[in-house]
Amino acid sequence: MNKLFALLGLLSAFVAFTFTDHNHELCQGFLPENDLYISEFQLTAGGLDQDEFDDVLDLVQDVYGPEIAADGDTLVINRRWSDGVVNASAIRRGTQVIINMYGGLARHPEVTRDGFTLVACHELGHHLAGAPKISSTWQPSSWASNEGQSDYYATLKCFRKLFDAADNTEWLAKNDVDSTVEFECDLQWQDRDDQVACYRGAMAALSVGKMFQKLRGDRNPPEYNTPDTIQVSSTDDRHPDTQCRLDSYYQGALCTQDVGVELSDSDYSEGTCTRADGHVRGVRPLCWFKPPEAKDKEEEPRKPWWKRWWPFQDQIVINAEINPQVEDGPYW
Ligand SMILES: [Zn+2]
Repeated sequence: MNKLFALLGLLSAFVAFTFTDHNHELCQGFLPENDLYISEFQLTAGGLDQDEFDDVLDLVQDVYGPEIAADGDTLVINRRWSDGVVNASAIRRGTQVIINMYGGLARHPEVTRDGFTLVACHELGHHLAGAPKISSTWQPSSWASNEGQSDYYATLKCFRKLFDAADNTEWLAKNDVDSTVEFECDLQWQDRDDQVACYRGAMAALSVGKMFQKLRGDRNPPEYNTPDTIQVSSTDDRHPDTQCRLDSYYQGALCTQDVGVELSDSDYSEGTCTRADGHVRGVRPLCWFKPPEAKDKEEEPRKPWWKRWWPFQDQIVINAEINPQVEDGPYW
């Protein structure tokens, strides 16, 4: 009898799990779950006020609303200013592409306006960043791009789309840029506007990285020139560590792919920079990403009968390069 109850319990747990999954409420928070709560009435130095919170989300709606509508979906940005939760999340419900942005996160002392924008970009990334997607034993591929990919997308596409050259020139006049960022962005990008966009994305990432450090109690601050040296043996879908997350954002800013090329749900290389294509900078960090094995070499075509015994094979190959007809012949 006890065994029967245990079996029923297991079965109901499985059913509950499956239903949760099908609600499309994977709800991947921007930050790992935390107890921090910054209420509307709490005075904090730094962070955004409500007008800035709304300005950022207006911009995201203006730029991405039409793009998502063109795909037949609707972008819904839930502006939870009054809610003190220090987080943000993404949910998909039917054709609704939903991001939840909380006031507690906007009021966090380490968050800048650009940092908050980057968080919104990360949440959109769960919907739009393509492969790799979050997978589990029960669900080989969900609707949501994984955490590292959403970070990479945020600077690779979203942050660049939101600001034009004039915005970035104005930003540069008021902000300092880290010397490593300046050097590498200038190396990657030729056009001055692109270089400045790269600086801005990378610096926004540092603001967010400092917040991770505070929330997680990490000893060392993340830096651009101290990339995470861990190499995963398989792609990790969860939130990477603080340094690893900064690395993803930074590499996204350094990838010189056209901002207009969308990412693919099945081919991780489309619209991105990959090692397989010879890129050294701008690639997904190996602290969360394991590139799929290179495709097996195509099977060599069967040699023509006369080549199997022909003693001067090298000469034939050279001739074949000059005169491809030499390769023609009966195959069996
Ligand atoms: Zn996330």
